[in-house]
Amino acid sequence: MTSTQLKTSALALLKKFYGYDSFRPGQFEVIEAVCSGRDAVVIMPTGGGKSICYQMPALLNDGCVVVVSPLIALMQDQVQALMANGIPAVAINSNRSDFDNRSDIDAAHAGRIKIIYLSPERLIADIDQWLTRLNICLFAIDEAHCISQWGHDFRKVYTQLSALKSKFPNIPIMALTATADRLTRDDISRQLGLKDPLRWLGSFNRPNLSLKVITGATSRKKIQTVQGLTRRYPNDSGIVYTLSRKNAESANEQLNRLGIRSTVYHAGLTPSQRQKAQSLFTNGQVQVVCATIAFGMGIDKSNIRWVVHFNLPANIESYYQEIGRAGRDGLPAETVLFYSYQDVVLRRGLIEKSESALQQIFTEKLTQMQRYAEAQVCRRRILMSYFGEEMSEDCHNCDVCHNPPERFDGTILAQKAISAALRTDQHIGIFTMVDILRGSARAEIRRLGYDHLKTYGVGRDLPSADWNFYIQQMVQLGVFEPDMEHNNVLKTTPLAMRIVRGQEALQLTRFVARERVARKAKAPTLPSLGGGTSKELFEYLKRVRMRFASQSGIAPYMVLSDKSLQDMAIRRPRSLDELLDVHGIGEYKAKRFGEIFIAAIEDFLND
Ligand code: ADP
Ligand code: ZN
Repeated sequence: MTSTQLKTSALALLKKFYGYDSFRPGQFEVIEAVCSGRDAVVIMPTGGGKSICYQMPALLNDGCVVVVSPLIALMQDQVQALMANGIPAVAINSNRSDFDNRSDIDAAHAGRIKIIYLSPERLIADIDQWLTRLNICLFAIDEAHCISQWGHDFRKVYTQLSALKSKFPNIPIMALTATADRLTRDDISRQLGLKDPLRWLGSFNRPNLSLKVITGATSRKKIQTVQGLTRRYPNDSGIVYTLSRKNAESANEQLNRLGIRSTVYHAGLTPSQRQKAQSLFTNGQVQVVCATIAFGMGIDKSNIRWVVHFNLPANIESYYQEIGRAGRDGLPAETVLFYSYQDVVLRRGLIEKSESALQQIFTEKLTQMQRYAEAQVCRRRILMSYFGEEMSEDCHNCDVCHNPPERFDGTILAQKAISAALRTDQHIGIFTMVDILRGSARAEIRRLGYDHLKTYGVGRDLPSADWNFYIQQMVQLGVFEPDMEHNNVLKTTPLAMRIVRGQEALQLTRFVARERVARKAKAPTLPSLGGGTSKELFEYLKRVRMRFASQSGIAPYMVLSDKSLQDMAIRRPRSLDELLDVHGIGEYKAKRFGEIFIAAIEDFLND
């Protein structure tokens, strides 16, 4: 088959099974490669469309595709999504009975199954068993970064996947991941023994995600931010990521107390509790999940409108993958990262305790994360340059772009702060320093005699939020060094001495109250929906979808995505033919759900 012929068939199948009109960049290229027997490494960001890369070869070929995926909990979702498109798929795993597994394996042997999901453990265990008698056209290794120690999610069992190439030398392998770090990328093809693989490195830019970092917020402020987001997007959901289980639990309790439907997800839950949490979320029964990093791998829920990090993530890869769970439908989505220097200290401590041979790499990655959070230039440019992509213009969708920093001569402020540190023998942390500078009447301050210091009250003219911000900046700029072993009291550095003696000046970035920023940034509205009625119809169709989904026991987003419903609300199809023009509706879905939605549109328009 020529490339053009292959493309024609692939496009027809894409329309028929998925309802899409064209491939995203890279999809066809890697499909073509594996169809000609070549290995492939596919690096695309979360939401980039990796699934179709490995599913389509199953539709184009006689045999089936075996997909290795580390998270059993997600397999059922993926199988359901495929079945909803009319593609026969199964997941063979330990969550199911031997009987069920066996009968699915029989069906696969009979050639009735196109896609088989397996855990890596299962693949290794069964590699000499039923797999050898199967007509396999492709092995797909999802979350392939798990094979690399350099990555952020190493799984030992993944290293055994190197056996695939020796046992099945003639079957192409496609490795897929959303992790872009270079060390990991190279490790993947080396460890899997891939032969001259086609490499596709997709663009990591997700312009629809707004980026925002808030420094030094209180936990109350963090909860308020989440509350604001839930109000702004009452019909959509979001994720709160925290550093520890305890933080996740406490965030969840506070949100519940405010009447927000939320739940927790972390490594301390049993598998069934986790599954429960996940399904509450995907079914839209809770609006918020408070999670540690364990949550969200592979979640394809298109109406996640926001992601908030309560703490600094360990590295840029994790951060980007986590915020990437929002806005997978391509519509505007918001992300907020709360940053405090404490988190850096805490994470450093964790790394040191880990006694891992990779401490140095982890520390380096943490430092890069910290630099991002502290940056005064377009944040998206930092991210893209981290992932090796050039961006020649500012993004206009991050907090720095919205609010370009204004610099000023902060030498006098710094001298005041440094003098407070020196006059207290460098025994104070940031909060006491602010109290002294502002002349606080706190009993503690008086007890220690700090109210007699010459520096007491010299910074009264600035609110404490501003002082906090400036002193943190001074830390970042190397004026002070927090003593991690002694409650992070601020030690002066040689730079501080030069400043206080007037030998050197210090430029600071002007503090801008975050509330002002928040008010300026408008809530994204649905773009292409003109007039109130399309929006009303969209909301109506969402209710229809919810009812149908709960009746048939599948997740709403698997019936149809928000994007499909929006497109439907604009096009208002009155027949099955017209329905097929709607984004994301293939023949199978049109047949299965079509009449319900056409009837609903008719009802709505006749009302
Ligand atoms: P990934 O696995 O890379 O995170 P998915 O494969 O889950 O991403 O795809 C993300 C979303 O994009 C899904 O809803 C998918 O149906 C959609 N999608 C994938 N390919 C296309 C395409 N060619 N046209 C339109 N939508 C697509
Ligand atoms: Zn920007």
